[in-house]
Amino acid sequence: MRKIFILIILIISSCTSQKQTKGKSTFGIVIHGGAGTILKKNMTDEMEKMYLRQLEEAVQIGFQIIKNDGNGREAVEKTINYLENSPLFNAGKGSVLTSEGTVELDASFMEGKSLNAGAVAGVKNIKNPISAAIKVMTSSPHVMLSGNGADTFAKDQGLEMVDQSYFITERRSKSLERAKKIDEDNNTSFYSKNELVNYRIGTVGCVVLDKNGNLFSGTSTGGMTNKKWGRIGDVPIIGAGTYANNLTCAVSATGWGEFFIRNVVGHDISALMEYKGMSVQDASRQVLDKVAKLGGDGGVIAIDKNGNIAMEMNTSGMYRAHIDANGKLTAKIYK
Ligand code: ASP
Repeated sequence: MRKIFILIILIISSCTSQKQTKGKSTFGIVIHGGAGTILKKNMTDEMEKMYLRQLEEAVQIGFQIIKNDGNGREAVEKTINYLENSPLFNAGKGSVLTSEGTVELDASFMEGKSLNAGAVAGVKNIKNPISAAIKVMTSSPHVMLSGNGADTFAKDQGLEMVDQSYFITERRSKSLERAKKIDEDNNTSFYSKNELVNYRIGTVGCVVLDKNGNLFSGTSTGGMTNKKWGRIGDVPIIGAGTYANNLTCAVSATGWGEFFIRNVVGHDISALMEYKGMSVQDASRQVLDKVAKLGGDGGVIAIDKNGNIAMEMNTSGMYRAHIDANGKLTAKIYK
């Protein structure tokens, strides 16, 4: 009799716990605002507060959308739009300048369920390049559009177009002057000096797991200061700067783009998880170590299909923030 009673209790409790697991919707959002030599000693309290406040405001935008059963695509778009519109980050307004003093923007977006993706590279007049990347995915038969053609496409799609002067800030003009001077003084080739590499911090990215269990990733940047010859970085390259796959994770990268392209960073993290069963944290660490071995630096944010996250870097800092399913917010700058 006692045994039967215990058995009944066990069956009932197992049923309730199954019900709880089924009904539990895990979701979460992680953002970054660029990685590089970000040291407390170089930061005023005021700047620090401003960065943290904007990271918090941005991550809340996407979080509120997914919390209210919204779509992860919209969460990524709206969050990145906020960061693109802020002059603090190297994306949209406040982007770094090319050697000619102009702005050329890259962005990409990917969805983990369908493996659909869209990207724009070297665009000059699209106010919010991430929205154009999404349009490439939803309203064209292509994955990547570049240059004037991409600008024309965005205009035809009704996206807001702006003059180059909208993007250019005094801070970035000064950075270009300094970068050119380092170049001249040292007679260095492009990006051969580490100092120059740091004239780019502020790329933005966002990864989301929504309540439907779908993963999304987006990244947007102005690239690297003093870039020439129509240089394109890792950001618009699906599998390098941006990747999402419902089987594994969503990744957005930031760092010295050439190294992130050569290491196919986003896809490599996903592949380690898919084929080797690694955790999102271990896979991210391993791939960043590979990047560092080749001489590259930067960081990644990632979220897996269970809501586990990684915010890894091999630099002294990365602007980053996360909100989990319980609404717990973390925002950090230094390593
Ligand atoms: N990855 C970007 C690029 O190379 C720059 C950055 O993330 O800091 O264009």
